[in-house]
Amino acid sequence: MPRRFRNVTRIGPVRVGTAYDQRGREKHTVACTAPRCDFCADYDSRAAAELAARTHRCPIR
Ligand SMILES: [Zn+2]
Repeated sequence: MPRRFRNVTRIGPVRVGTAYDQRGREKHTVACTAPRCDFCADYDSRAAAELAARTHRCPIR
């Protein structure tokens, strides 16, 4: 399901983007782009999302 992201930034292998969900609420999505890492989560605030991105460690090396 394609969502339109804005303010996309990259922190290491992790991307942080802001988008609106189906109800029009702002969501801050963190997604890791590293191979075989499925980390992906939504946060209510940009600060929380960026903190999660900064502290993320891939489960694989
Ligand atoms: Zn990862």
